[in-house]
Amino acid sequence: MRLNRVLKKVLFLFIFMLCVMILPVFSHNVKALTIVIDPGHGGNDDGASNSGLVESELTMKIATYLKEYLSEYPDLNIILTHTGQTMSLEDRADFARNNKADLMLSIHINSNQVTSLQGCEAYVTYRTDLPKYNENMTRLGNMILRNIQKLGISGIGTVQTKKVVNSENEDEYKYFDGTPGDYYGIIRRSMKGGHELGLGPNFGDGSGVPVVLIEHAYLSNSHDRAFLDSDDDLRALARADCDAVVEFYSLSKTNNIDISGYMFDSEFYYNKYEDLRNAFGYNVEALKNHYYTFRDC
Ligand SMILES: [Zn+2]
Repeated sequence: MRLNRVLKKVLFLFIFMLCVMILPVFSHNVKALTIVIDPGHGGNDDGASNSGLVESELTMKIATYLKEYLSEYPDLNIILTHTGQTMSLEDRADFARNNKADLMLSIHINSNQVTSLQGCEAYVTYRTDLPKYNENMTRLGNMILRNIQKLGISGIGTVQTKKVVNSENEDEYKYFDGTPGDYYGIIRRSMKGGHELGLGPNFGDGSGVPVVLIEHAYLSNSHDRAFLDSDDDLRALARADCDAVVEFYSLSKTNNIDISGYMFDSEFYYNKYEDLRNAFGYNVEALKNHYYTFRDC
């Protein structure tokens, strides 16, 4: 049996109205936050290396696992800056900004000529006048460090800041209010936001993206290198990052709002439409198929 045209129109209007009413509310909640994960280095930039282990490969693995773990949270939209290509720090910052990221996690592995140095470190902007960037990211960074240290990677346990020294003559290393830039390019370029885009001196206008740069361990240190040699341990590092983000934003896996389930109510559908009752009886699958065939939103 076929539905008559009037009924189809009414049905379409009803479903359309339902979509118009429900979707803006739920789509806002479903992906409340965008987090950009930046695998440090990549392409023709290997970063640090030691006895066969290469930073760019390790950061890509951690970043990929981190994306996998964070994607289990329905409130998050997780994007990687790249999948192994060469990418400048400026392009990474632009990428995060263009995707309206709420946060960028820059994933790194440390290295130093002094091979006794070991442990995890995290860096945020030194600009304490911008609490959105400094205060919040310090809190998140400390959560990350605490989780990594639980894995047996040492560290001083609190985030650090580092600014460019002797930047007097180089605009590139300054913020447009004349203060020295942050030492780490990814932080500086993400922070600069409006300046680089020529949007004027609204430093704290939100056009920048807060960044936490995580040096998970020292590849140059024998203890840390042994840890980085295991895929399970790389996953554990990603899990440490993930757990901190979940704690920081108070995320829950059960926040999931299943729009399709919410919008289809077989009983409601059955009672409302006589044609369908006659055609299908109370056959939930048939009613559901009909609903999804004729909905248009
Ligand atoms: Zn690095």
